[in-house]
Amino acid sequence: MKDQLVRATAEGVRIFAATTTDLVADAARRHDCYPIAAAALGRTITGALLFAANLKNEEAVTIKIAGDGPLGRLVADAVPKGFARGFVDNPHVDLPSNAKGKLDVAGGVGRNGVVSVTRFTGLEHDVSGSCELVSGEIAEDLTNYLFVSEQTPSSVGLGVLVDTDLSVRAAGGFMVQPLPDVSDAVLDRLEQNLKSMRSVTEMIDGGLDARGIISTVFDGLDVNFLSETPLAFRCQCSRERVESTLISLNAKDRQSLIDDGHAEVVCQFCGEKYQFSGDELKRLFER
Ligand SMILES: [Zn+2]
Repeated sequence: MKDQLVRATAEGVRIFAATTTDLVADAARRHDCYPIAAAALGRTITGALLFAANLKNEEAVTIKIAGDGPLGRLVADAVPKGFARGFVDNPHVDLPSNAKGKLDVAGGVGRNGVVSVTRFTGLEHDVSGSCELVSGEIAEDLTNYLFVSEQTPSSVGLGVLVDTDLSVRAAGGFMVQPLPDVSDAVLDRLEQNLKSMRSVTEMIDGGLDARGIISTVFDGLDVNFLSETPLAFRCQCSRERVESTLISLNAKDRQSLIDDGHAEVVCQFCGEKYQFSGDELKRLFER
């Protein structure tokens, strides 16, 4: 089952649903995440992909979750073409399971802090908003953000299942939003469906793809599938970008890199390591 994001509507409600198992596994491997970090980062990246799902082609979104827990900040970027990247400050956090016997994501994120979202529109001003965390479980925090900061009633579901061998076994999510012309009967049905259905990870682990999640959320409604986008972890970093960052350093810092005879630059977002020998640095700074 390939990672994908599917867009659909049903009787005055729109939905985006995504399976992100491989993408989240890639992110967890790149950042050497322990299970709680993998779950928190995977939920945040999946949330960013859902937030990006109705942007225009050249637009992008960044979600930052800064709680008071040991994980530190979670940051994820996504574009509507289906690419996302992200990092967590402290990937090596280990906590006992929560009262439900699940990964204690809220304990890792913290229950106090701020969720902030920036939509890069390509216009003069990007659109930013923020609000307080409500649970640290991320899906509830994003639902609350959309309501409080963007006045958009939504229901966001996110999940990452980490297997006993610490691999990411299932990941994905959905974001459902009633449109202004929705009827009360449809809203009632939607509410019942959301209450009675299995969790996102149970659905994906049970073999459902993004279309299957949508059919479950929209059970009993007339579904109109709109589009599918394949998803992948992808960073915008490149050797050229790292070179221009090095060139922009001041003379003192450049000299100390040359004196070290070697520089290693690690991309915070994807963990890619860029190596520069002393000679390469000299040539770069002489340009
Ligand atoms: Zn990168």
